[in-house]
Amino acid sequence: MHHPPSTASGAGEPTAQTGKVWLIGAGPGDPELLTLKGKRLLEAADSVFYDELANAELLGFAPAHAERLYVGKRANSHSVPQREIVDWMVERVRQGQQVVRLKGGDPFVFGRGGEEVRQLTAAGVDWEVVPGISSGFAVPAAAGIPVTDREAASSVHFYTGHAAGGDAGSATAGFPKEGTLVIFMGVERIAAIVADALRSGRPATTPVAVIERGTRPDQRVTIGMLADIAMRAKEAGVRTPALIVIGDVVRLRAEFRPELTQAGAGPQTPLPGIILMAHGSSLRTWHESVDRLASELAVGGQFSQAAYLEPAHPTFAEVVEQAVAAGVAEIAVVPYFLAQGTHVVNDIPELIKAARERHPHLRIELSFCLEGHPALRTAVLSRAGEALAMLRSHNGEAVAV
Ligand code: SAH
Repeated sequence: MHHPPSTASGAGEPTAQTGKVWLIGAGPGDPELLTLKGKRLLEAADSVFYDELANAELLGFAPAHAERLYVGKRANSHSVPQREIVDWMVERVRQGQQVVRLKGGDPFVFGRGGEEVRQLTAAGVDWEVVPGISSGFAVPAAAGIPVTDREAASSVHFYTGHAAGGDAGSATAGFPKEGTLVIFMGVERIAAIVADALRSGRPATTPVAVIERGTRPDQRVTIGMLADIAMRAKEAGVRTPALIVIGDVVRLRAEFRPELTQAGAGPQTPLPGIILMAHGSSLRTWHESVDRLASELAVGGQFSQAAYLEPAHPTFAEVVEQAVAAGVAEIAVVPYFLAQGTHVVNDIPELIKAARERHPHLRIELSFCLEGHPALRTAVLSRAGEALAMLRSHNGEAVAV
């Protein structure tokens, strides 16, 4: 037998039996998101190993006599080595203890649960996993974002920030083109992760949410798109633990939980408005397509509108008034299909100057024009690829695309 008879007092344990390690998923943060089974086993624990990811309130379920061992990061930010944690657990199991190892979320989702289990097995110690509610889906859900949705995403992919985004200098796999991407431990490498998502063919307008301390009372959500989320996360001072959610499902937050995206709904970075500045046309379809693009750019209730050079409407000044009325404090102006000519160099800066004079507190900035942007090259090439694919599938017949 692996297990010598119990020598622990096992107070309150009528059947002091052989010890065991219970790897219990503590859930994402809200203590009520522990499973009933996890709670029952905690109530019977002789010792509890925990770290910062598991809510410390859960320790209240353990009996008074139970030893509580913190094995997370110390003030000097060094963790207790994995090897040592396992040695301590093994020692207690050999004394006949019921040892609980509390792990944030689910023990087998990026929690190094597998490593501990291998080492316990190697030591001949009995163990069992009690699944937990992983932050990977629970944290987005609590923030109003379903990780899959019939219309927005039919798959969800979990990554760690260490693996995602490729190793510095290597052109590794990248992300799938479709589906929601959920990235754990990614805050520090957010710029590389974003670059990888763009390289994998995700549009720069793909909405992104960074959720800190999800399901806890001080949860905070920062919303943006691939194009600007790295900057926004930096501005907001986003800190670990945080989850990065990339994909169209992020847009559903504004639909499902409008109260969360409105002013006064708790800490949240306000989104700047966007004005897509385009040439007016007598072609209705042109205006329709620019208007549609502008509305597709809006994430989480963001202000985004097309404006046109006069005499077409709405004019820049009209859209600025709308933005101000909507409470927008910052506006990014992007010239759309306008070359680096007199409109971009003279006319639009004049319009912006006039708007700044009318609204001295409003911050407005004009971007470079799209001409020369690398994304245009990608777009043209992917369109050419589509045309070629159609030529092939029609066996060389000329086809209209
Ligand atoms: N086993 C855990 C994940 C461990 S990895 C689970 O299933 O949830 C730790 C990472 O999980 C953190 O760096 C963070 O990216 C994510 N995470 C865990 N709890 C979180 C929370 N409440 N809010 C946001 N992210 C969280």
